[in-house]
Amino acid sequence: MGEPIDTMPHTWQPYQGQRHAYPGGRRTNGTPVVFLCGRKGEAAGLDSDLCSPPRLWWTCRDCYREARDRQERRHETGFAAVSYSS
Ligand SMILES: [Zn+2]
Repeated sequence: MGEPIDTMPHTWQPYQGQRHAYPGGRRTNGTPVVFLCGRKGEAAGLDSDLCSPPRLWWTCRDCYREARDRQERRHETGFAAVSYSS
């Protein structure tokens, strides 16, 4: 149950009224990040104003699409990695 954090392909967080995702696991609050859609922002830590329910935020479509594509590619390469190629 649950994945180790360092295997997370990306992290979702609210930023400027939308939910964006940046690559990798959750960063420390205030760390500069580039979201999957190309926007630049800062990582919002657990202690910041993330208390509002995520469903109140619009999901950034570009981030969503990119995240989905990355996940599919990740699955493909994952399968390739475990196949017997020797
Ligand atoms: Zn975005």
